[in-house]
Amino acid sequence: MSQQAIAFDIVAREGEARAGILRTRRGRVETPVFMPVGTLGTVKGTRFEALETELDARIILGNTYHLWLRPGAETIRACGGLHRFIGWERALLTDSGGFQVWSLGALRKISEEGTEFRSHVDGSTRFLSPEVSMEVQSALGSDIVMAFDECAPGQATHEVARESMLLTARWARRSRTRFDELQDAGMDAGRVEAAEGLSGRQALFGIVQGASHGDLRRESLERTAEIGFDGYAIGGLSVGEEKGVMYSVIEEIAPRMPAERPRYLMGVGTPVDLVEAVARGVDMFDCVLPTRNGRTGQAFTSRGKVNIKNARYSRDTRPLDEACGCAVCRRHTRAYLRHLYLTGEMLGGILLTHHNLAFFLDTMRRVRQSIRSGDFARFRQEFREECVRSEV
Ligand SMILES: [Zn+2]
Repeated sequence: MSQQAIAFDIVAREGEARAGILRTRRGRVETPVFMPVGTLGTVKGTRFEALETELDARIILGNTYHLWLRPGAETIRACGGLHRFIGWERALLTDSGGFQVWSLGALRKISEEGTEFRSHVDGSTRFLSPEVSMEVQSALGSDIVMAFDECAPGQATHEVARESMLLTARWARRSRTRFDELQDAGMDAGRVEAAEGLSGRQALFGIVQGASHGDLRRESLERTAEIGFDGYAIGGLSVGEEKGVMYSVIEEIAPRMPAERPRYLMGVGTPVDLVEAVARGVDMFDCVLPTRNGRTGQAFTSRGKVNIKNARYSRDTRPLDEACGCAVCRRHTRAYLRHLYLTGEMLGGILLTHHNLAFFLDTMRRVRQSIRSGDFARFRQEFREECVRSEV
């Protein structure tokens, strides 16, 4: 195949940090990028207009596992694919479902063929395999598809982690094969006339596993790169290992990942984690923190976390974050946001989520600018110093 599903150009570097342009069949994405998580086809508490205009998110995530169970892959295919179903014309990435099944823990049974588990919705027995995951993701028609992987716990022994990593490598090959068949058969529900130079097909990313063992991570990367993917992800981090371990795995693996392809760190993390991972060579991120914490009354700000429940904010007429220019910080006070939260008004979670997403996306905008202007090292240091303060 001569044309690529995505194109990735690096426009500036500082140390291992890279600023780039990722061109997908549904538009350009500047990297490093944070992708808001749209679990069930919704970035919880956020209207798509806000995502497009005020927040200017260029790419969001959908969760294969959840959408497969409800409303079902064929229902979404019948509605024209996930973009049309949810009303989002920009880029979409879907995960493989592997992580969600993993996080169900005791409810699953793994074999060479795939994973059997009980649906958390109705208790029925379901079976997810590399082939099924590729079929579901073709029905969703996302622009970036993730290979089906197996995630070992952060503290897994070398032996357990190696078995799991080898299974992931075999599943990666099966994912690649089924994915290519589906593309050739025209089963991709999200196919569009792509921009010049792109094939219009879905892109497929491979996932590096290996828990916290450096040698296994390197072997996993080798095996994954050998198969050949449009981009590469680091999976299985932020699953119970210590933060220092997470940083050292990223430091060891990210710079070794194919330099001309985007590098995606899955499911991580706090704003400081993002900046630290960029410094180690990562280009793409997703995490539920801004949306989930928004719903539980926690805001991320340029001066650290704010728990809006705290009594000290009851008459605080300052914005959540004085350095933030988002619609919420321009209009509302901490006292009001606290009142909404304490009275259980749904607007409370909506406003905190909006601010949190604005903060994450704006942080990445500043990261990109600082890499482009050769000022990233200073930005990183100042950001860490400000953000590690626990509360304002
Ligand atoms: Zn704000």
